[in-house]
Amino acid sequence: MTDRKVRVRFAPSPTGPLHIGGVRTALYNYLFARQHGGDMVFRIEDTDSTRFVPGAEDYIIESFKWLGIEFDEGVSYGGQHGPYRQSERRDIYRRYVKQLLDDGKAYIAFDTPEQLNAKRESVANFQYDAHTRMEMCNSLVLGDEETRRRIEAGEKYVVRFKVEPGEEVHVSDIIRGDVCIMSDILDDKVLYKSADDLPTYHLANIVDDHLMEISHVIRGEEWLPSAPLHVLLYRAFGWADTMPAFAHLPLLLKPDGKGKLSKRDGDRLGFPVFPLEWHDPKSGDISSGYRESGYLPQAVINFLALLGWNPGTDQELLSMQELIEQFDLSKCSKSGAKFDYVKGQWFNREYLQRTDNALLAPSFDAILRANGIEVPMERVEAVVGMMKMKKINFIKELWPLCDFFFIRPAYQADDKFTRKNWKEDTAAEMRELAALLEPLTDFSVESQKAVVDAWAAEGGKKPWNPWRVCLVGTGKGPDMYELAAFLGKEETLARMQSAIEALG
Ligand code: GLU
Repeated sequence: MTDRKVRVRFAPSPTGPLHIGGVRTALYNYLFARQHGGDMVFRIEDTDSTRFVPGAEDYIIESFKWLGIEFDEGVSYGGQHGPYRQSERRDIYRRYVKQLLDDGKAYIAFDTPEQLNAKRESVANFQYDAHTRMEMCNSLVLGDEETRRRIEAGEKYVVRFKVEPGEEVHVSDIIRGDVCIMSDILDDKVLYKSADDLPTYHLANIVDDHLMEISHVIRGEEWLPSAPLHVLLYRAFGWADTMPAFAHLPLLLKPDGKGKLSKRDGDRLGFPVFPLEWHDPKSGDISSGYRESGYLPQAVINFLALLGWNPGTDQELLSMQELIEQFDLSKCSKSGAKFDYVKGQWFNREYLQRTDNALLAPSFDAILRANGIEVPMERVEAVVGMMKMKKINFIKELWPLCDFFFIRPAYQADDKFTRKNWKEDTAAEMRELAALLEPLTDFSVESQKAVVDAWAAEGGKKPWNPWRVCLVGTGKGPDMYELAAFLGKEETLARMQSAIEALG
């Protein structure tokens, strides 16, 4: 088993938008696959037709495209092990259901929902298992002939797995070690329903992992209770030797307390729990997404990678390549990871500062246009470059911080910064400064600096704050020379003139 090619899968059910916990699961699979030169398969587990949501599959694919998580095979990627949508694999599952029935490892049951409910009501903690199955309506009780007669008469049935009691079941988990349970606590799970001619999750999942030659099953902790049954299924099929290794990842917990992270936490505290905005096709509700909220995909990846694992050093900023190199599945934590969304915002800030201005400019340009401002993209880029280091978490925070680049400020004598910095002789000093700038033909930072620094040093002047009042109207913004160079000589002088007139 050790020299087996690493093949992992991400196998969501298209029941709605992909939850951020699912994204973390996919990411860990991706890091593990890339680290081992393995393959990553994208499988759609759509055997529960009652929970199918149109649009979910496309949403999931688009989410991974945005995040830069690439699959090697699967729905929309193709490959040798298709089809990769379980609803298109009915023939395959039928064959394996028959194998279990023929081998006496499964049986047919006719109990109606009403009968099952009646049983649950009359027997405390009822479980369909070795102790009760002979009191129920199934092929073990009815015999082959009666079973055949009922099926031929069109009676609906399910196929149940026959769990033998008294067996120790070991799940060997890379993160949790040996997890052992007694088979007695398991019930005879339904593997197939004739009503829709579809297997249940358990059977389809095991058959596909086997046929798709999956070497490692890396998934959320919520699937751990299913793992013993899966181990028994591998055995029943005679596939114990090629059973994948399991790794059940820790839960994502609420940011402010115990319990599983939910969409409600996001709504309550104001952070997205989905990668992309989701428009619910039934209710019409819109749920916010990381992309639309202004997160950079690399920031989301870095943030999620550290929820349940860390490199064991102080390094917090890790590129995808570094994550691939350093990720260690066996060092994932067993206990849940608190979803510290504020940390997620911090990651975004760090990544904003490290991202090319040209890449950030279009999203700021959209905000400018929404505010009625249309300027060439180089101007947008220049502003982003001057302002992104100002501890902003998101590009959308830029507008209130730098509207003055595009709109002449309204001068207010009662503005705190203005009051502090605009003295009786300030207007005269600003006139002097304007006279100094006026003759410059080159209005670059260097050229301004050469004359203004010399003038300031000579006269012991500190014109910076009043000059800021002139160009910004208050105490914010970038370096004054950079700002003046951006505005250009004409606009700079015009603003100085307006300030002098307004503030006297
Ligand atoms: N279809 C399951 C899900 O929605 C897959 C669980 C597994 O990875 O086995 O997550």
